[in-house]
Amino acid sequence: MFLTISTTGTAERPATDLGFLLHKHPEKAQAFSTSYGTAHVLYPEADAERCTAALLLEVDPVALVRRGKGKGRGGAPDAALAQYVNDRPYAASSLLAVALSSVFSSAMRGVCTARPERAAEPLPLCIDVPSLPARGGPGLVRALFEPLGWTVSAEPVALDSEFPEWGDSRYVRLVLQSQALTLSAALRHLYVLLPVLDDAKHYWVSADEVDKLLRAGEGWLPGHPEQKLITSRFLSRRWSLTRQAMERLELVRLAETDDADVEEIDNAVAAETEEEEKPTPLAVQRRDAITAVLQETDAARVLDLGCGQGQLVQALLKDTRFTEIVGVDVSVRALTIASRRLKLDRMGERQAARVKLLQGSLAYTDTRLKGYDAAVLSEVIEHLDLPRLPALEYAVFGSARPRAVVVTTPNVEYNVRWESLPAGHVRHGDHRFEWTREEFRAWADAVAERHGYDVEFRPVGPDDPEVGPPTQMAVFLKKTEKTEKLDKAEKSEKEAKAA
Ligand code: SAH
Repeated sequence: MFLTISTTGTAERPATDLGFLLHKHPEKAQAFSTSYGTAHVLYPEADAERCTAALLLEVDPVALVRRGKGKGRGGAPDAALAQYVNDRPYAASSLLAVALSSVFSSAMRGVCTARPERAAEPLPLCIDVPSLPARGGPGLVRALFEPLGWTVSAEPVALDSEFPEWGDSRYVRLVLQSQALTLSAALRHLYVLLPVLDDAKHYWVSADEVDKLLRAGEGWLPGHPEQKLITSRFLSRRWSLTRQAMERLELVRLAETDDADVEEIDNAVAAETEEEEKPTPLAVQRRDAITAVLQETDAARVLDLGCGQGQLVQALLKDTRFTEIVGVDVSVRALTIASRRLKLDRMGERQAARVKLLQGSLAYTDTRLKGYDAAVLSEVIEHLDLPRLPALEYAVFGSARPRAVVVTTPNVEYNVRWESLPAGHVRHGDHRFEWTREEFRAWADAVAERHGYDVEFRPVGPDDPEVGPPTQMAVFLKKTEKTEKLDKAEKSEKEAKAA
């Protein structure tokens, strides 16, 4: 029973940093005893370019039975033989998940004293679980991991390779790849989802399991499309615990998302608006600037991501060149208000065919968002905690991949010009950060580079010579294959010249 975790790196950011992140030295093979056998950590490869850590669990089936909790799934739990002859020694399961959490506990919590900055950063990851019992099959494996930003390969394992006609076993070989996740998030995904797929815990699930689930699920479980299945299976379908967990998750989700804050946000926008010179409030200037970009880029099918109460959707509807306008928000309440504002229920058929409101979180990939001409993120990114931003980046630029993306966010430098804003305060209580022009550019440039877009920046509102405009806007355009090739050629030519 084992899994491997691999990463890649460069001379400046060596892959062997994985050893620091896992708190396990790449040059030592180490063994840890657990109640059910011995866990080994070893590194089949470890250099600057590539580093792989393997976690191998040698299960002692007798210890498992002695502890009175080993139910083989091959037969009835009371069948004496099934207790000794079962898949537990070979398959990834709750045993492996428990070993993972005890051997890599600091890494799971995101703690790394030697490389604190790297623990908080996403890194290229490839996780290989050669034998994973997957009740629900490859489809469920994908439904669990893909929304989290993983590229998933789940190949069914044949029952017997010599007799293909016997069909597939209930095991899959799982390979997960991502550039957008931290190691801590990756380990916490495995800790929860491996036993969920196995759907058979080796130990009695008690109330403290709810706490473990919420702790490991922090930042990704609330709002996961399969949240209910995950919760119920992780808690061995104990309904009282599941209900408890669902209630707490809902509270977390409400606190994390802006559901309760929508009104407040609107008030803040209104307050911002009042501070403007009367004729054109900043919010209106922003909508005009965004609409102009969408028109310039010939976008007809447009996503308004984090559409809030639907003001931009409403403005876009007025221009018939926008044939499809989709507003997406995590907040049901904001969408209800948007739907009322747009009078969706009283709209003529033709008008109604142009507009859609979807509930969804931008922190998860969503196939409904693929294939659009343009996406707008107007005053949205600053509402996400910084560690969640790579997930949004992947969902929008890696997965949905529209031809154009327009992002606006406050320029924090301009805050000194708001007379009513005390020094050092953000413009709204729910802003998790506000960036300088330089910080925004650095982020946008890196995003463009990572996902094959060109980016340019435009001011929105009066462009103050000292502190810049109140709103900053980045316009991303997807590179065509041709320009991408030219760019690469130019880059390597430059490098060749420099060398
Ligand atoms: N785009 C609008 C609203 C901005 S307020 C405008 O420019 O006025 C930010 C909006 O982002 C809120 O409606 C909030 O519910 C939404 N939001 C925050 N986090 C989100 C997430 N993870 N997924 C989807 N929407 C989110």
